[in-house]
Amino acid sequence: MQFNYIANATVPSYSGQSLPMIDPSDGRPFDTIQRSNAADVDAAVSAARACHSAVWSHLNGAERGRLLMRLSVKIADHADELAVLEQRDCGKPTKQARADVNALVRYFEFYAGACDKLHGDTIPYLNGYSVLTWREPHGVTGHIIPWNYPMQIFGRSVGGALAAGNVCVVKPSEDACLSLLRIAALAEEAGFPAGAINIVTGLGHEVGSALARHEGIDHISFTGSPSVGTLIAQAAAERHCPVTLELGGKSPQIVFADADLDAAVPAILNAIVQNAGQTCSAGARLLVEQSIYEPMLERLGIAFGNLRVGPAAMDLDVGPLIRQSQQQRVWDFLSDAHDANIPMVAQGQVVPEAPDTGFYQAPTLFRDVPVAHRLAQEEVFGPVLAAMSFKDEEQAVDMANATRFGLVAGVWTRDGARQFRMAKRLRSGQVFINNYGAGGGVELPFGGVKSSGYGREKGLEALAGFTTLKTVAIQHN
Ligand code: NAD
Repeated sequence: MQFNYIANATVPSYSGQSLPMIDPSDGRPFDTIQRSNAADVDAAVSAARACHSAVWSHLNGAERGRLLMRLSVKIADHADELAVLEQRDCGKPTKQARADVNALVRYFEFYAGACDKLHGDTIPYLNGYSVLTWREPHGVTGHIIPWNYPMQIFGRSVGGALAAGNVCVVKPSEDACLSLLRIAALAEEAGFPAGAINIVTGLGHEVGSALARHEGIDHISFTGSPSVGTLIAQAAAERHCPVTLELGGKSPQIVFADADLDAAVPAILNAIVQNAGQTCSAGARLLVEQSIYEPMLERLGIAFGNLRVGPAAMDLDVGPLIRQSQQQRVWDFLSDAHDANIPMVAQGQVVPEAPDTGFYQAPTLFRDVPVAHRLAQEEVFGPVLAAMSFKDEEQAVDMANATRFGLVAGVWTRDGARQFRMAKRLRSGQVFINNYGAGGGVELPFGGVKSSGYGREKGLEALAGFTTLKTVAIQHN
């Protein structure tokens, strides 16, 4: 049984109720978490506020930085334990779970170094005036986190908020939150004061909603689906609370005839099957120039056919989806594609060792997907790639921009001038050219446009969102 983590203590929820944690690899419950409510959120916010005014706001940047660095080292020291937790909770193959721990280590390392480098400006003004700006923390920040990358999203969101001088109340997903409860305990061991990091588990419409509405929350960072993002923004607007929204995507991979296909094919494959396609930045649409459409599909078809899907601990190419409803969601897309006579090129294989009770889905490649079909428009959040062809650069841009999302775009071409033209014309928060987000990108600002959200996390840019700017104008003669 797991408990909330408030003011450096494990505490049961006020309701006394719990929720089961289900292992996606076999569909069986293996632990329980607290089913918290508004009273638990209230307790966490009070603890955070007390910490901010009594302790955290008195630490200077270097002192905060040392704490974040110590936590980074603690996480690295417990990498195996955290990877196993995340693997079981989310159904991640071992290599993915380990990569997620490494990314978390890097987030705290990166933001540790940023704590004492955050500063304002001096601004030339009227004679006799000195004007300066200060970057001040919001105070208590709320963080609502999804199940697909709990550790990574905790790192980029909570890491940035702490570095900027805030203290945090975190509401992880009810589908995966065990790693975050453990990290909060590691933070205490690293010397974090009581109330700096608080974790309250439970259902979205109970805990998440209470957090978004709470008067004591000064900024909300939400990562999740566009529909819930709307609810969060509405709740926050009632009290004019600033919000960062990191929402979904339907990101295009655009391949021109002059591309290096040896580099493109494995990157395109990985971008749709990593984490079983349950990645906001999944490269879910493949746009290929007509003259290489057939050879490209042939190569990708072979690669898809070779993919093996199975229990997380088997560490195959792909693990299970997070839960039964997510599996059903993917099946609905597949059956719609079938009804619309969209041709399937290839499918991977679920290994015989995979229990029937697990939430498996073989990666699937479709071709000639009409631009307006929901398979080309909506987020599947599963290992399903929708391929289509284009005749020229103009059409490629039109097709790439023709969804309500704008998170990431991948462009594959050796033509330098086209690389810049494409980067300018794509409506997207990120454009990756001849790569697709290699290296984790802790240092790189990340976020969306359109229904993919607004505000930026990751990189130093995140610190602007986790602070407010105060302008001080002094008239001295
Ligand atoms: P979700 O929106 O259902 O849940 C996200 C979080 O919000 C969870 O903690 C959930 O409990 C909480 N929540 C649910 N209903 C709520 C409510 N009424 N009020 C407050 N909180 C509520 O999303 P999900 O299914 O967990 O995650 C998948 C979605 O997240 C996908 O759309 C994906 O693209 C997106 N995502 C985006 C990014 C990004 O950086 N842009 C990263 C990861 C995931």
